[in-house]
Amino acid sequence: MPRKNNKIYLDYAATTPVDGEVLKAMMPYFNEKFGNASSIHSFGQEAMTAIDQAREKIARYFNCDFTEIIFTGSATESNNLVIKGFKFQKKHIITTKIEHESILEPLKELEKMGHKVTYLPVDKEGLIKISNLEKAIKDTTILISIIYANNEIGTIQPIKEIGKLLEKINKKRKENNLARIYFHTDAVQALNYLECRPDWLKVDLLTFSGHKIYGPKGIGGLYVRKNTPLSPIISGGGQEFGLRSGTENISSIIGLAKAVELALENKEKNYKKIFDLRNQLLKDIIKDNKIAVKINGLRNDCLPNILNIRFPGINNETLIIALDQAGVAISAGSACSSRALAASHVLTAIGLTPKQVKESIRISIGKNTTKQEIKKAIRIINKYEKLLI
Ligand code: PLP
Repeated sequence: MPRKNNKIYLDYAATTPVDGEVLKAMMPYFNEKFGNASSIHSFGQEAMTAIDQAREKIARYFNCDFTEIIFTGSATESNNLVIKGFKFQKKHIITTKIEHESILEPLKELEKMGHKVTYLPVDKEGLIKISNLEKAIKDTTILISIIYANNEIGTIQPIKEIGKLLEKINKKRKENNLARIYFHTDAVQALNYLECRPDWLKVDLLTFSGHKIYGPKGIGGLYVRKNTPLSPIISGGGQEFGLRSGTENISSIIGLAKAVELALENKEKNYKKIFDLRNQLLKDIIKDNKIAVKINGLRNDCLPNILNIRFPGINNETLIIALDQAGVAISAGSACSSRALAASHVLTAIGLTPKQVKESIRISIGKNTTKQEIKKAIRIINKYEKLLI
């Protein structure tokens, strides 16, 4: 059921409402078809069949084998599984400075245990340099994990190019009896808008999440290429091909599969609509503002839904609260860490000073956003920007 009040939600990168069709698909699995997929009786069989069908559906969209799709409790868990799930002894991992916390925090734990991690820097637009990545590779490198599209500034990394490069590098490593390097991407923010088929991207592991694609919260997915030596971080009944024990969250799995279907079927349509709204928003904010608004990240060639901008001289927390009271919900960046506005590691990595970080806001648009909402939001943002100078 859509919201009935007049509030304008412009924080779709934080989370999205469950699509009506997704909800409809999920409903029978709460009480009518409630079986435990591990049970032998017909209730269990019914649940197992539904889960298999959901897995097959996602596998079809990802052009992969259905055994390569794993359901988890969140993208955070998928990312933890990737980082902690390699059975390696004091090996080397490469990542970037602008990953989500669900990559960076488990990496910190590994570092404490003696593993080596290289954090690639990004330029002022948030892009890594492939040459830096190449230079960072060591004989001991086992994993490269690079976010596909950043959740704060929307910058898209050249995942396919890296995948191609790694294919060549892995060939040479094989000739030299060196271990293969596995390649993971966090595609949580990318799935709505970008090509995410793992074979096209040439990745071995790919993370996705339900609640960023109009599916339910508390469900994540992980593509794991066959023969990737990943060990579980949650052990028990051996569900999910032994990689993630725990009774399957059947309603959410059904919801995730439906959400993937809707996202991929409507990708081009949603992309265009949302990109046009973002551009309108940006144009009108720039036009109507007295102060020179700065864009954090790229103006184009980025995710179509995220606009991270800086209002020099204005405190973002004050602006966010004022806008919320006026009925417009935006954020300062990642909502996943805590309610407090901690200094964004992403904005810091692209070179902003602590003061500039505190002047930055993230507006993120979704498929339900209307032109009228954007117009109203611009009026409100510009009014408060003037009041707060
Ligand atoms: N990765 C990225 C890029 C994200 O934006 C988020 C959530 O904001 C996550 C991972 C974590 O997703 P979840 O909320 O499903 O744990």
